[in-house]
Amino acid sequence: MDFRKIPTLNSTPSLLGYGCMRFPEKDGKIDKEQSYAMLDAAIAGGVNYFDTAYIYHNGESEPFMGQYFKENLSTKPRDSFYIATKLPTWEVNSLEDAKRIFAQQCERLQVDYIDFYLLHDLKLDRFEKMEKLGVYDYCRELQAQGKIKHLGHSSHENAENFAKIVDARDWDFVMLHLNYMDLDNLKLYEYAVAKGVPVFVMEGVKGGSLSKLPDDIAPHFTALNPTATPASWALRWAGSLSDSGRPPAEASGDLRGGEQSPPSLAVKCILSGMSSMEQVQDNLATFSGFKPLSNEEHAAIKRVEVDLRKRVRCNCTGCNYCMPCPAGVNIPWVLSIWNNWGIYENRGHSNWEWSMVGADSRPAKCTECGACNAICPQKIDIIADLKRADSELEGLAW
Ligand code: SF4
Ligand code: SF4
Repeated sequence: MDFRKIPTLNSTPSLLGYGCMRFPEKDGKIDKEQSYAMLDAAIAGGVNYFDTAYIYHNGESEPFMGQYFKENLSTKPRDSFYIATKLPTWEVNSLEDAKRIFAQQCERLQVDYIDFYLLHDLKLDRFEKMEKLGVYDYCRELQAQGKIKHLGHSSHENAENFAKIVDARDWDFVMLHLNYMDLDNLKLYEYAVAKGVPVFVMEGVKGGSLSKLPDDIAPHFTALNPTATPASWALRWAGSLSDSGRPPAEASGDLRGGEQSPPSLAVKCILSGMSSMEQVQDNLATFSGFKPLSNEEHAAIKRVEVDLRKRVRCNCTGCNYCMPCPAGVNIPWVLSIWNNWGIYENRGHSNWEWSMVGADSRPAKCTECGACNAICPQKIDIIADLKRADSELEGLAW
């Protein structure tokens, strides 16, 4: 296992972190036998960082991990592994809520302190609310008492709002959604790097969407390496990021190929929500003797990215100008799920995304008033596309 020390935090997490949100399940519960075996294998392979959250597995992940730590790691020094968990900022409406949830998290995890504590999915409006309630200061008080070692936040924000949050307060680290398809997020990464804030990566395989490529695109990878999995390519991309967020050769104008210089060490840990033993073994191989991507490999990833983008169903940018729809249809959300289905053809993931959309937000509610078509800057025929999206997504379950 590779490690990238964080001198400012006096911590050395494993480059592969275990994301505890996608354990295999049995009868609606986390499958203890399988999951324990996967955690055992990850630890044997050098993983020392475990990332859970209050909400994962409908609240089951934290107590599950607490029990695992008690049964399997209680004889090891507490500072030989790291526990990360997150405060669900959207559920916090008072300082008392934050205090109650933190106490509950320590109880669930059966620990006296949390190594890495994050304000979960911290959008700007949520941050402002946390500030008003005094949650940030409370977390720093917990830190002074030794109950939190490091304070950070996870972000799916846009770059402008992310910068406001980073500038408003000190952060020991941030967790960012980074993969070779969501390149807009590199602006967040670059900002964090410029500010000297250590970066932890989530969604490196885009919720599993990049773990299997369509048959006509996969050869871009297999031509260079017949055995490497698509997931390993995606995770190596994240681990190879330079300070600028671009491949070093591209940043220097040298696109001739060959080997590149070592990547920036700004990325300290890359999470993977492993849900099978095969994934654990594959990820351990990726992060043991980590090999940054060569320029030739970066070029292959660029070809995959370009070809995947050709498969988008419509050009919705998510600008939200068409919202709110008077009939309640969540237009950008529906079109985004439809696009993801078109690009990745990941039936299970798309079906899950579609199941999240309530009946009141679905295209069936559209009255064809035409207000959205008139305003869309991309000139999308939204009424027609919603019908196509509905028909394709409704068919996924079959
Ligand atoms: S206005 Fe057009 S581009 Fe913007 S979110 Fe709506 S459909 Fe997408
Ligand atoms: S045409 Fe349909 S989706 Fe568009 S605003 Fe009217 S009701 Fe909403």
